[in-house]
Amino acid sequence: MPGPVKTQAVVLRSIRYGEADRILHLYTPQRGRIGAIAKGVRRTRSRFGGRLEPFFRLDLVLHEGRGDLLTVTAAETVAGHGRLRADGAALDCAARACDAVGRLFDTGEPHPEVFNLLCNELALLDADPRRATHANQLAFRLKLLLAAGLAPQLAACASCGAREHLAGFSGAAGGVVCSACEASAFALGQDAHDFLVGALGSSLAETPEAPPAALAQAERAILATLEHHAHLQLRPVG
Ligand SMILES: [Zn+2]
Repeated sequence: MPGPVKTQAVVLRSIRYGEADRILHLYTPQRGRIGAIAKGVRRTRSRFGGRLEPFFRLDLVLHEGRGDLLTVTAAETVAGHGRLRADGAALDCAARACDAVGRLFDTGEPHPEVFNLLCNELALLDADPRRATHANQLAFRLKLLLAAGLAPQLAACASCGAREHLAGFSGAAGGVVCSACEASAFALGQDAHDFLVGALGSSLAETPEAPPAALAQAERAILATLEHHAHLQLRPVG
């Protein structure tokens, strides 16, 4: 039913529209990804100030009409993440996080855990921009895969179930594979395997570190999983 909608949201993208308006891509806890228009934002005396920018976490009131886009009628800042914006690496990391969420969860299906994960990532980057590491970004993507029901199988061979000689990773099979099944796989060393298991099993703030070569293998595994099971190509981080 049309009417006012109150929700928190993270601004994923903010696109200039016409003379003074902006189109926003928002991620919300209960309505997934939504599009909204904010009118008159770019006038100097706009009541929205500068808060309809990417990475802002907002309390919003939206008007839902007949069209696809909701209209922003009020916006209060929950977190502006100003420190993150002042650091190039953290900014890049936040942009990639928002891009990945918007592409992997691009419908109105509610995923409150994805909203919380994104808020957590932005808060971590803002509290300490040095957290914008390769390991952090891979851990974030792994957690998105988990939320999408696409977490790679890591405990046993995804083809035959063997628990030993797990030497490769196959996006098509959906996880680690043993040396007998590794035809379509690429090598995944113990360090990379340990990283995938550790990153999935710990909070973002406690993401384990790993040598660069292991992170490169872990990244290849994540990208192969996204490509095979979500038909999504994300730019590599490292
Ligand atoms: Zn096997």
